[in-house]
Formats: sequence, C-alpha cells, structure tokens
Amino acid sequence: MPNSHANEESAAAKKYIYSFAGGAAEGDASMKNLLGGKGANLAEMANIGLPVPPGFTLSTEVCAYYYDHQKTYPANLFETEIPAALKKVEDYLGKKFGDPENPLLVSVRSGARASMPGMMDTILNLGLNDKTVEGLARKSGNPRFAWDCYRRFVSMYGDVVLDLKPADKKQIDPFEEILEQKKQELGIHLDTELGVDDLKDLVGKYKKAILEKTGKTFPENPEEQLRGAISAVFNSWNNERAIVYRKLNHIPGWWGTACNVQAMVFGNMGEDCGTGVAFTRDAATGDNIFYGEFLMNAQGEDVVAGTRTPLKIEQLAQEKPAIYNQLEEIRSILEKHYRDMMDIEFTIENDKLFMLQCRVGKRTGLAAIKIAVDMYNEGLIDEKEVLRRIEPEQLNQLLRPVFDLKEKKAAIDSGRLLATGLNAGPGAATGRVYFNADDAMEANARGEKVILVRIETSPEDIKGMNAAEGILTERGGMTSHAALVARQMGKVCVAGCGTLRIDYKAGEMRVAGKDIVIKEGEYISIDGTTGEVIAGEVKTKNSEILEVLIDKTLDPADAPTFRIYNQLMQWADKYRKLNIRTNADQPDQAEIAITFGAEGIGLCRTEHMFFGGDRIDAMREMILADDIAGRKVALDKLLPYQRDDFYGLFKAMGSRPVTVRLLDPPLHEFLPHTDAEIDDLAGKIGKTSAEIKARIESLHEFNPMLGLRGCRLGILHPEIIVMQVRAIIEAACRIKQEGQEIVPEIMVPLVSTVKELEITSEVIHKTARSVISEQGVGVKYLVGTMIEVPRAAITSDQIAQAADFFSYGTNDLTQMGLGMSRDDSGQFLPIYQQQEIFARNPFESIDIDGVGRLVSISAKEGRSVKPDLKLGICGEHGGDPATVEFCHKTGLNYVSCSPFRVPIARLAAARAALL
Ligand code: PEP
Ligand code: MG
Repeated sequence: MPNSHANEESAAAKKYIYSFAGGAAEGDASMKNLLGGKGANLAEMANIGLPVPPGFTLSTEVCAYYYDHQKTYPANLFETEIPAALKKVEDYLGKKFGDPENPLLVSVRSGARASMPGMMDTILNLGLNDKTVEGLARKSGNPRFAWDCYRRFVSMYGDVVLDLKPADKKQIDPFEEILEQKKQELGIHLDTELGVDDLKDLVGKYKKAILEKTGKTFPENPEEQLRGAISAVFNSWNNERAIVYRKLNHIPGWWGTACNVQAMVFGNMGEDCGTGVAFTRDAATGDNIFYGEFLMNAQGEDVVAGTRTPLKIEQLAQEKPAIYNQLEEIRSILEKHYRDMMDIEFTIENDKLFMLQCRVGKRTGLAAIKIAVDMYNEGLIDEKEVLRRIEPEQLNQLLRPVFDLKEKKAAIDSGRLLATGLNAGPGAATGRVYFNADDAMEANARGEKVILVRIETSPEDIKGMNAAEGILTERGGMTSHAALVARQMGKVCVAGCGTLRIDYKAGEMRVAGKDIVIKEGEYISIDGTTGEVIAGEVKTKNSEILEVLIDKTLDPADAPTFRIYNQLMQWADKYRKLNIRTNADQPDQAEIAITFGAEGIGLCRTEHMFFGGDRIDAMREMILADDIAGRKVALDKLLPYQRDDFYGLFKAMGSRPVTVRLLDPPLHEFLPHTDAEIDDLAGKIGKTSAEIKARIESLHEFNPMLGLRGCRLGILHPEIIVMQVRAIIEAACRIKQEGQEIVPEIMVPLVSTVKELEITSEVIHKTARSVISEQGVGVKYLVGTMIEVPRAAITSDQIAQAADFFSYGTNDLTQMGLGMSRDDSGQFLPIYQQQEIFARNPFESIDIDGVGRLVSISAKEGRSVKPDLKLGICGEHGGDPATVEFCHKTGLNYVSCSPFRVPIARLAAARAALL
C-alpha cells in the first residue's frame, strides 16, 4: 500500500499537479518518482519541442494520499487545482471540457515510476456525453467517428470505472456480448461496418446494461466522469495483475502510480489518421533499425492489444512519407537526447503527427548488450555507462540454450514445421502445450516443461507466462502484450503466428492448410530467434557464447554475440574491485567456471564429492561405524578418492586459490532410507540390516540442520579431519612437485565459538605438518572458517585470532539469523513476499538489514583484529546482483557463486564499483 509518510500540516502546501503544454512543462524527465515514467517523459518531450498534446499529471503523492486517507483526495484537488490545470489545456487548444459545441476530450492514464505495460487502467475519450457527442460530430464533420468514440468510451468506462469487466477470463465482457449480438443481427463481421444509427443504438444498450448490472446510471457530467476515471487509475495500482507484476519485477507497493490527463488526439477519425508504436532500434536483436508498427484509422489500444495485426513502419514511408520522415527525425532527436533506445507511441490526426509517449524501451538481454556497445561505438555513451545500462540478470538470456541445428533441420525436413510467426523473444524452448495460464501453472508445478499457447495474451496471463518455457500466440505484433512481457521476463516467444487456429474449448490447435492437430499436453518446440514453430521435441543446446567458451568448436570471428559479451566482460573486469570465485566440487564444473572468468574456488563442499558411484557406501560406512576402528576402516577407503579429487580440482584451477571445506554433512542427507537401500548396504559393509537400522535410529535427529554437522563432527571424530587434511596436503604436494603453485585454503564449517576453531585447527596443523615432512615438499596452506552461525558473526574479533580468512555461509546465516528453515520456508515465504514482509526471498538475495548487518558487524570485528583478514561469501547469495553490491560496499574481497552465474557476478561487481 502506498504510504506517503506525509506530514499532514505540510499537505496543504504541496504541489500535486504538473502541467505540460507545447514547448513548456512544469516537470521533466528527472522527475519519474513524482510524475511516473509516462508523465516525466511527456513533460520532457514537450520541453524539447516535440509535438505533445497538452495535459497534466497528478503526482504519485496524490496516489499515496489516496491510499493513506481511505481513498479520498487532498483538499481542493477537484475543486480548484484540476479545473485550473484543465483550463490551461482548454486555453491552449481553444476547446472546453464539457462544451456541447467544441468539447475537449481527454485520456486518463496510469503511469508508475517503472513501466508496467498493460497492468493498470486507461480511459480514452473522456468528456463525451449525449450533448458533447453531437458537438464532436459537427466539429469533426464525421458523426460516425463521434459516435464510435462515444461507444468505446461508455464501454471502457463501464469496464474500468464501474467494474463490469469480468475478472474471470472465461466470462464474456457484457459490452462485447452486446456488440457481437448487434453484428450478428446485422450480418456483419467488422466493427467498421457499423453505421451511425447502429452506434447510437449500441450506446443506448451499453448504458442500459450499466444500469441493470450496477444499479447506477452512466454519468453524463464530465467532471464526475473525470473523478471516476482518476480513482479507477489509482485503484488499478492494487489490482491482482499489477500486484503479480510488481512482485515479479521487485517493484515496491508504496511507490504508487501517477495519473496523466491529456487532451485526446484521434487516430480513428478517417484514412488520414492513424496510430503506432515504435522502437528506435530493434528490441529483440538490438540492430540499429527503426522498428515499429502502425494502423491507419485506429486508436492506440488497437495496436498494443493485438486485435488487428498492424503494418510494419516501413510501409508508412510509402503511405505517408512526410509523417514518416518527421518520425525518423524524432527518432534521432530522442536517441541523442536520451542516449538510449526509446519506445514511442504516436498518433496521426488529419495528417498531423503527435507524440503520446516515450520511454526507455524494454529489450532482450542480447539487445541490451548490443545497443549499449553500439552506442559506445557511436560515441553516445562511455564504457562506464555501458556497464550501468545492463542488468546483470540480462546476461542469462545470452547464455541460454539454442536448438541443436542438426536436430532442428531434421525436424523441418521431415515436415514438422507447423508455422512461422514473429521472433518476439529469442532463444529455444521445447515443452508441452497448454492453452491457459492455470493449466500451464499446474503442469509446471508437476515438473513439466510448458509452452503457453494463446490466441493473444493479456495481463491476466502473466502467471502462466512466468511458468512457461516459451509463449506462442496466434495474433499480435512485436509490440503486443505477449511480446513485450515475454521479452522482459526473458522468455522465448513467437507472436502473431497467424496460420494457427487455436480452439480453447476443444483444447487443441490446428494449422491453416495443414492436416495437423496438436492437442493439449503434446510437445512443440518454438524458436524465438527465427519465429519457427515445430511439432514435437527438438533438442536444445548451448548458446553461441557457451559454444565458444566451452566447446571451442566455434571460431570467435564467426560469433558476434560472443564478441560483444567478451567486450562487456573486459570492461566489467576493469572496474570491479571484488574478485569472483565459484562454488565447485568437480573439475568439469571448475573448468566451466574458469571459462566464465572465475578467479578461484570459494567453496568446495567435500561431502558432495561422495555422491557418485559406490563412494556413498564408504561414506555411509564411516557415518554408521560404531567405533573409531570401524570409522578408520571406512576413512581409509575414502582417502584415495579424496586425494584424487583434490588433485583434479587443483590441477583444473591452475594457480588460482581453492577453498576446501571440511566435511559438513547434515547426517539425514547421507543415511540410507528404504529397506532395500539398507539391505543393499548391509551386504557391502559387513553389518546386518537390523544393526544398521538400530544405528540409524541412534543417530536420529529431530533437527538435523542444527545437529551433528559441521565442525561438531570433526570435534567428535578428529580422525575425519585427519583423513581430509591428509588428502588435501598430499594432493597439493603432488601438484607442487609437478611445478604448479597451490596454497590450499582449508575451511572449517559451522563454527560458533573460537574454541571450536582452535581445537579443529590444531588437528589440521598437526596433520598437515606431518604430511609435509613425510613428503618433503614445502606446501603452504591457510586455515579459515565459515561464518554462518550468528554467534560467530558477533564474536568475530575472537574468531579472527584463530583464522586466516572468513567466508560467509549466508545460507545457514540466513536460516539461523531469521530462525527460518532453509528447507521448509517455501511454505510461507511466498505469502511473506506477497505481504511485502520481505521484498525478495531472503535465501536468494541477502536480507541486508538483518543478515547483512551480521555480516557487516563480523567484517568490522574481524578486521579490527586482523586488518588484512581475507573475507568472502559462498552462500547462494554470492551470485545475486543486489547481494554482490552489498558485498562490495561491505569491503569483502570476493564473492563465490555457481559457475553459470560468474559472468553475472562480474558485471554486478563492476556496477557496484561504479555506483
Ligand atoms: C552456507 O551455509 O551458506 C554454505 C555455503 O554452506 P552450505 O550451503 O553447504 O550449508
Ligand atoms: Mg552452511
């Protein structure tokens, strides 16, 4: 809920309304927090002399006030301030709001700080009533147009302000039902075939429906209409789809939306009118081309809603060359002014161009990177700005799989190509077809890969889109809802695939001219880079970047995406202060991480090295041993595995640092569970099944995460530490003998007191010294600790005395700091996020105020004793950009994350350094 924290005394003096009218505005582009993105940019465009219809913006503070004061408004807002702002618009245009002769009509639109496409409400043609419609008819000389506007307005008002739009998509909108009936009666198919009398009849029927369904009459008074529309816009900030969208995009609820009231210009007044949307560059590929769509004789929503498939902007150059040239000029002005790729909305009224919106255009990860690097080359921005422009998560899209080209070709050659649509969101996706959002979500929850297939999408589909690998639509262009939202989510999307015939009722789709039926649950594959839709599964494979980095089969000269990526990473490395390490336990993981730029291993979880083959048996034998002699037998079996694994890992890492953590197995993860497993193990380790069961019983823990784990295990059974340290040092000696430098960092887990670390360190040092003297090789090593228990964090001055380094285990530190189980919090965390108790899942992005504070205290305390104490983070948070920024600010030396997140962490670290 918005909360202005406003002081009631000062509320009266506050400025709530900002006007904009040709060439001068009270706001500008820097005022997004107050005016929302749309309002700020309308003001900016007016200021730089672009043709913007005049209007005014009610600031986000009005929205905050509205929610803080039981949905009421600041004093005088409707009595004097709005009328004064309206008067400026009236004077500018020479029209009057509510004037039966020459009426001013306005649009009322939402506009938050961050764009939320299609999530909130809009009302067009406001100010029409039974009298003004006649004035508009006379003034425009086009009664059909005037009555069509009125018809649209009444239905929009009914849907949005009077809440008649059914929340359930399966129910039909009452106005659509009336319209369909009318068309059937007349035997026509298109809205454009309706005559003036038909439209008048429809207006009457719409009003009747409003009265019947709401008990209220449609308001004829324009002031009342305006108040209703403004309230509807503010209410729409908290509609379900806006809330879902905010959650997905980490937009806080307290921001609120602004509300823009702007003079209408008409794209639907005749054939010399039209409307369109465009990107100043290609939003999917980043290519430097003007990319847009338009429709003649249409209103703005027709293009975005995807109900009529629009024409490409190039065609406007043929049909209206003067307008096209003016648009090209505006494209260049805007790019130079904003130094970014812009997304614009325009309307042509009687051959005159008006700009209705501009904002920084949403783009794919690939386009974001290409545009930023191109703009650097064009001298528009510098390398620091390139780094600031790219959200680290966008790199994910570049690293995503593509189809195996051979498999795809084979599929197409065998006739499985169903159709080709628009390549709206690049990447390759394969999955089972579902035709609505709920089914898609259910299938996804069952673990299926899903392709959501819709005739067109609307904001209600957003949850289903989120659950899907890819989205396929029958209608709509590159700027349709499906395309915009999919790109932003980083989903694969093929839009406007006009030959599909989707039948929701039958749960199937057909393809025009082909004898093929795809039923719900069957596989299809979609290529969001080419627009192809293929029946059945097609194998996916690594992206171009992975191909160059890992497979090394592709020459970088033939890999333009790789080259851009590489340039970006070089700039990131130039500015970042943090080192980036990886969490890896296997040489192949380490190799991938190195190709992504990892500078060391920040966490090798040794217990993970026992998952493969029959190693788990020896591990279980060790855990289940009754006494030290039994344990030593098992440890002797584990030693060679460990030594070889460490050797492989050290070798793969070259001379880069490697942190090896001593065993930290929550016992329940390693014990056999089923009778069959127990019987099988019994045969292997020379115990009876009954003996094993009894031992498991005796080891049972009510809360294994807080039980015999971490350093506690080694304190009870030092022989485990001895085996592990021997394996580490022997492997290091071998590496050293081969001429490679290595300084293993031995890390003790789950320490809460310095005494635990001292006892464990003593065993480590004793063992290491004895191996070093046995081997006669001068290996150096460090001994440090995880800081993952709150007590350790706040006694870090003591712990630092016994440690060469700290690594923050933020998984456990979050679990213990919040008292919230790592494994069970899935039950309630979604609700917590919904209620904004946490903005992000604290197991994904560090809880800066709580867990982050523990880390800061620990870092300060630790370095108060050892100023050069090396500090890192190795919890899952290490690859999260917001956490990386926190680590930079806290002065850590490195972050460690999973291999595929290394490039993301590199970029995030550079951005943090540039803040
Ligand atoms: C941690 O707790 O953050 C950590 C890295 O250790 P693990 O996830 O293995 O408990
Ligand atoms: Mg841990």
